[in-house]
Amino acid sequence: MKWIKDPKKTKKTIRQLEERITKKYSYMFPRQKPGTPLLPIVFGFEVGPGWYDLLENMFNTIALIDINKTVIIQQVKEKFGGLRFYYGHNEIRASEEIYDAISFVVRCGESISEHTCEECGEWGKIIGGGWLYCRCKKCEKRLKKERFI
Ligand SMILES: [Zn+2]
Repeated sequence: MKWIKDPKKTKKTIRQLEERITKKYSYMFPRQKPGTPLLPIVFGFEVGPGWYDLLENMFNTIALIDINKTVIIQQVKEKFGGLRFYYGHNEIRASEEIYDAISFVVRCGESISEHTCEECGEWGKIIGGGWLYCRCKKCEKRLKKERFI
């Protein structure tokens, strides 16, 4: 499994990922109807492009495990510099093993995000004072310039 991003993919946007994922795994977004905003994810995936591959791999892995199609996505966002992937299960029952395996994938993905630059996908760490970000050295420098010029 490839968790580290392909640099070429950072040209793709999170909006493109949303479009692809919500089509491919439409059962995870049950209130979504054609032509309406993403529901229940009203604001879409609220993360930077550096987590593109991470999220894509998480969705693909969850879908492989979730054979009864029970997962419902509630929110995908950044908080305190890390990915927060909120989800639930619909009324269809899955085995405890499946619930555990999905939970494990989500915890792994959230942990990996804390070491993956949200801007470019390179190795990074959580930085910042009031607002926390996960950034690589290069993006950290750029961020500092943008904030203090
Ligand atoms: Zn970076």
